[in-house]
Amino acid sequence: MSQFSIIGVIACLIQIVNDSIYSNYIGVFIDSVILCVLFTAYLLNENGKNTIAKIIFTGFMTTVLFIFAAITPREVGIYLFFFPILGLSFLIYSNEEIFLRNISIAYIVLLLVILEFTSYHPFGNINILEGIEDNTSYYVNMIVSIFVLIFSVYNLNKINQLIEIKRSAIANELSIKNNDLLKTNAELDHFVYSTSHDLKAPLSSISGLINIAKLEIKEEKPNEYFDLIEERVFKLNSFIKDIIDLSKNSRLEVKKENINLRETIENSIENNRYIENARSIKFNIEIDETINIYIDKSRFSIILNNLISNAIKYHKNDGERFINITLLKTESNINLIVRDNGIGIDDVNKEKVFDMFYRGHESSEGSGLGLYIVKEIVSKLSGKITLKSILNEGTEFIIKIPIE
Ligand code: ADP
Repeated sequence: MSQFSIIGVIACLIQIVNDSIYSNYIGVFIDSVILCVLFTAYLLNENGKNTIAKIIFTGFMTTVLFIFAAITPREVGIYLFFFPILGLSFLIYSNEEIFLRNISIAYIVLLLVILEFTSYHPFGNINILEGIEDNTSYYVNMIVSIFVLIFSVYNLNKINQLIEIKRSAIANELSIKNNDLLKTNAELDHFVYSTSHDLKAPLSSISGLINIAKLEIKEEKPNEYFDLIEERVFKLNSFIKDIIDLSKNSRLEVKKENINLRETIENSIENNRYIENARSIKFNIEIDETINIYIDKSRFSIILNNLISNAIKYHKNDGERFINITLLKTESNINLIVRDNGIGIDDVNKEKVFDMFYRGHESSEGSGLGLYIVKEIVSKLSGKITLKSILNEGTEFIIKIPIE
């Protein structure tokens, strides 16, 4: 900005010399006024008042030029300065000042249009240079304008090159960081997976030992304690299983195979029958038997297990209880719908149930990972999961997985 003001000041000085040679003192006055405006902009910019300096440079300066262009003949070519100022407006305003830049451009264009439509005499036929013979002003103004325009285009180009260099440096840095992140992520996944596996073995031993102890010790009280320990071990076990599922989903590639859908669903129901609340729930399976689906069996089973175990856990204790599992194939999707008439989810919780470690009910004894895992798997399969639920009436999870 200061550079342009200085160039303008030099241009004005050249004009002053030129006008003085031709004894054009009105010209000298005009040049001096413009010089003062430019110098003010320079001083303001040097003192940190950048925005005001820019506004003076584009707005005030254009107004002054407009007035002089209106009271001098078109041939003097004062209007020529509008073009470099137009070019400079693109250059001097930053991205945060886009609004000011647009106003400035619109203002310059408006004044140019007014001049053009009034044949460069918007205030009537005034000519303050009447009788002064000076044919050089036009050429000097033109040369200065072209010079400033070229200078601003050159600077724009330079800025572009700088941005390009910075952009490629940032892209480089980002790619290095991304690789580090991928490596750390893989290490973390590996750590979680092997730790979870290592925890499973002693837990199985504890379970086995509890069973032996329960057989040998007949007293009631110690057996109550063993039941409690067994319950905790079971919870810990299912938490570890959730973590392993999550880790498997992020580590392993999707492996599609042709599976027996009814059998997979029935297995999943069977696996969850032991849940306390499961008794007397009626399971209805509805499958379009003609469909032949290629899907990742392990991931599909994890989705089913989580949705079915939730539908059981969060069921009501009375009434005619059901869980419907529907599997359909549309032209582009496989749709899995798991619907229950259980306790339902209120509107506030609907937003959060897919969050990691979120437990929505006081009765929830799980890890709060189940629906998070389902969401992650569905996303890995490029699918979508939605939820419809009415409190005290029931819940429906709809999963759509695209067929490629
Ligand atoms: P967890 O079951 O371990 O608490 P989930 O991620 O599986 O964790 O579920 C999160 C929450 O969503 C549950 O705590 C429960 O409040 C709610 N929820 C999930 N499925 C159902 C369902 N079928 N009916 C009612 N509430 C449900």
